Amino acid sequence: MKTISANCPNCGAPINLDPDNIAKFCSQCGSKILLDVETIQRLLIEKEKTKQVEAKEMAKARQAEMNYKKKSSDNKNTTIMAVAYFIFMTIVLTIIFGFMLLSKLLGKG
Ligand SMILES: [Zn+2]
Repeated sequence: MKTISANCPNCGAPINLDPDNIAKFCSQCGSKILLDVETIQRLLIEKEKTKQVEAKEMAKARQAEMNYKKKSSDNKNTTIMAVAYFIFMTIVLTIIFGFMLLSKLLGKG
């Protein structure tokens, strides 16, 4: 949660202002800290900015996740294709060598 640092108007102690909790009491002197309109507006703007950044980050994360999923599914397809190709080539080579061996044997015989 983003907070804004300020000072207590009564005793000057540093306080953190929370955009979700505008009414605050000073931890040093206990007096209620009343925020002026300008500060509240600043807090709201900060909060809105934080929201926008969060939304952007979330969109980015989602995009990255989608890219990762797509990539991993591509990898899976590539692996399946490689295995299928390997099996296919093994069968083809076995047939070719089988015929070669057979013709050699028949030629000799
Ligand atoms: Zn104070």
